[in-house]
Amino acid sequence: MKDNENKHFKKYRKLVNKIEQSTKVLEDIHSKHMMCKNGCDLCCIDFSIFPVEYYFILNELEKDEIKLELELNQKGNTCAFLKNHSCSIYNHRPIMCRTHGFPLIYVNDEDENELSACELNFTEFDYEDFTMENSLPQDKFNSKLFLLNREFIAGFTDKKYGEMDLIPLKDLAKHINQKKS
Ligand code: SF4
Repeated sequence: MKDNENKHFKKYRKLVNKIEQSTKVLEDIHSKHMMCKNGCDLCCIDFSIFPVEYYFILNELEKDEIKLELELNQKGNTCAFLKNHSCSIYNHRPIMCRTHGFPLIYVNDEDENELSACELNFTEFDYEDFTMENSLPQDKFNSKLFLLNREFIAGFTDKKYGEMDLIPLKDLAKHINQKKS
């Protein structure tokens, strides 16, 4: 299992780096629109992640012995890692969180390109101006993550996870909290 983790965690880190490079470019392109700042937590809802992300983040947090005071009883569907309007695992946050705030292009159920952009950032912007060059191709990165996760879960001899299985972020927070107590 350790070899499986090492190999796939390396690939996951590479994917994160690629996404960070792309978002850096977008940050420069859209600098006058991007208002994301510490304290804005509208995107921080509880969601679920692939096992490869779950185990990667868990491994990073354990390695760094990060001390977390988690809000396990957040109201509504707020992410358990949100503390005083900030992300308590910011450096290790999931890929989806790294794309928050940027214009995202993806293919919808009708097979058409659809755009999603934060309305707090893009208050004055003609949606016609978004192109493949100035938006993040969400499907491209999601497919890479899906394939990487498929390879990763194949390494579990008990076939614990199926291809579409996701793990709630809340479970990661609970897991970390249990280990601390
Ligand atoms: S992990 Fe951090 S950035 Fe992602 S939703 Fe939770 S608090 Fe927000």
